[in-house]
Amino acid sequence: MSHSMNTYSRIPVAFTRGERVWVWDESGKKYLDALAGIAVNTLGHGHAKLTRAIAEQSSRLIHTSNLYRIAEQERLADKLAAISGTDSVFFCNSGCEANEAAIKLARLYGSGKGVESPGIVVMDKAFHGRTLATLSATGNRKVQQGFEPLSATGNRKVQQGFEPLVTGFVRVPFNDIESVRQVASRDKSVVAVLVEPIQGEGGINISSMRYLRELRELCDGQGWLLMVDEVQCGLGRTGKWFVYQHAEIRPDVVLLAKGLASGVPIGACLARGPAAAVFKPGTHGSTFGGNPLACAAALATLAAIEEEGLMKNAERVGGILLAGLREALAGRPGVAEVRGHGLMIGVELDRPCGNLVGQALEAGLLINVTMDKVIRLLPPLIMNEGEARQVLSILVPLVRSFLEQPAAAVPARA
Ligand code: PLP
Repeated sequence: MSHSMNTYSRIPVAFTRGERVWVWDESGKKYLDALAGIAVNTLGHGHAKLTRAIAEQSSRLIHTSNLYRIAEQERLADKLAAISGTDSVFFCNSGCEANEAAIKLARLYGSGKGVESPGIVVMDKAFHGRTLATLSATGNRKVQQGFEPLSATGNRKVQQGFEPLVTGFVRVPFNDIESVRQVASRDKSVVAVLVEPIQGEGGINISSMRYLRELRELCDGQGWLLMVDEVQCGLGRTGKWFVYQHAEIRPDVVLLAKGLASGVPIGACLARGPAAAVFKPGTHGSTFGGNPLACAAALATLAAIEEEGLMKNAERVGGILLAGLREALAGRPGVAEVRGHGLMIGVELDRPCGNLVGQALEAGLLINVTMDKVIRLLPPLIMNEGEARQVLSILVPLVRSFLEQPAAAVPARA
């Protein structure tokens, strides 16, 4: 029996090695990875530029401390500022810490303006992490009785039992500018909006570009910070570095983690303009944040994305996957919607479909189901057309035969 704490409903398979978009388990069985460790393995597995950078950096210097200058961190901050249109970067180790930094930054920004109890607008079905502040920012509060979380980072049960929650969040429906305008007219303590341009855990819900632009305008008018959580959707996955760049806006704060170092833990809170000057020495920090090893891995990841044209690839190969899924499944009884942007794709069914994860695994394909009913694909950005077609050739027949089973016979969870 393992002494790992029982925090995950783990699938009983362990992988021992990987190459490109393929991984092998202990028995030698090969799988096509259409999940990338939930949007983490940007460069797939065993990418030579990444493994070389990690090996070289680890033999030179793994960790010093933020007590000292860190050259790799400075280079990474410069690079991130340049590609994002921001001015300064705080480094941490995960997505929740990036969001936690943003929440603290917004509060400090508000208190600097004399707001006694600063509030942050957050969205229904958002996911920002599992620390106390970020789970409080996470929606939705409704817990369906009798269900277990379907995925390690699923939305349900994120808040249940952890009350009292951190206060100061005002929740509104996603993609609905009117409700944010109403908050602006009645709540003078609000200082920021926190939004995922594409909600990942929430079911691949894509905000309209107009909504993002309207949020930018509203925030400008109110003096609020626009904070975008691109932990899952950012870093090239949709064909540009960041989803907000499709809307041609510049947020005040951008949160990153997951794919930034292609598997080496790192998170980042990027800020622009007045937001970039809010933290001062002593107001925030992290022991590991931005250490030489993590930053070298991130620099290698960003360089490979550029050198190998992986953003264009994500757009093109994502387009092939989306078109293939739409052609084969959209409009069929049982399929609510096929949606996505680049290599971030969701197929929403009309019934719980957690069982498909195990069936796909059996067939040699790694996928995920979120919000009970949404099949989620987040492949490595290096996936090529042939590999995308292999994903389709395994997944489409599985979904079709799943939908042919009577809905009542399908158990609610994996
Ligand atoms: N924000 C978003 C949009 C996420 O998808 C996640 C994780 O799924 C997080 C934050 C939390 O990241 P982490 O699990 O690294 O704390």
